[in-house]
Amino acid sequence: MVTVEVDPAHVESRLLSGEIDCPSCPSGVLGGWGHARVRRVVGATGPIRPRRSRCRGCSATHVLLPVVLLLRRAYLAEWIYAALQSAATGSGHRSIGAGLGVPATTVRGWIRVLTSRADAVRNHFLAVAVAAGVDVRVPKATGSRCGDALAAIDAARSAVGSRFGGDSVGEVTAASVSVALSGGRLLAPGWPAGVGSPMQHELPLPVCGDGQRSSDATV
Ligand SMILES: [Zn+2]
Repeated sequence: MVTVEVDPAHVESRLLSGEIDCPSCPSGVLGGWGHARVRRVVGATGPIRPRRSRCRGCSATHVLLPVVLLLRRAYLAEWIYAALQSAATGSGHRSIGAGLGVPATTVRGWIRVLTSRADAVRNHFLAVAVAAGVDVRVPKATGSRCGDALAAIDAARSAVGSRFGGDSVGEVTAASVSVALSGGRLLAPGWPAGVGSPMQHELPLPVCGDGQRSSDATV
């Protein structure tokens, strides 16, 4: 799976000119190879049919997922990110779900995954921000593990925006940065490398927000 821009014409143009690198081998580039299955994504204006690609070198195939989607999530990344932001400021998953029209259990799942890997996510995005080569102000601790992770994503957004300029890459949102710089894997198993071991899943997970355990956190 490779994250690409939303505009299909631009993706097609880059496929034709061999501008998309293969993630499976060092020197291959991807060419068009049909389409992946249609995805119905809550929040999108219509069904999304991602392009499939095949490496001209190693022949591996990769789905090109637009930057508005996280891997294996049926909601737009902007929706998921908005929910996580609300959680980081202390809202519970039920009220977030009610506000967005998303099942509370789904919201709870997003929050739990991010909380369980918050430190690794924070480190990853801060490293990207520093690598962008602009002055990066390390965000202050927010008192919430989710909040700290999201602050790092926002630092990366700011760094990428400063480095490349808003005009050349379109509007750079924290949600799109969270997708692009995780390869769509922000909430996927095993990302960043090393998280998601069976031991971690057995530990009780702290909730987002002010650190208080809400009554439904262990349900
Ligand atoms: Zn390849």
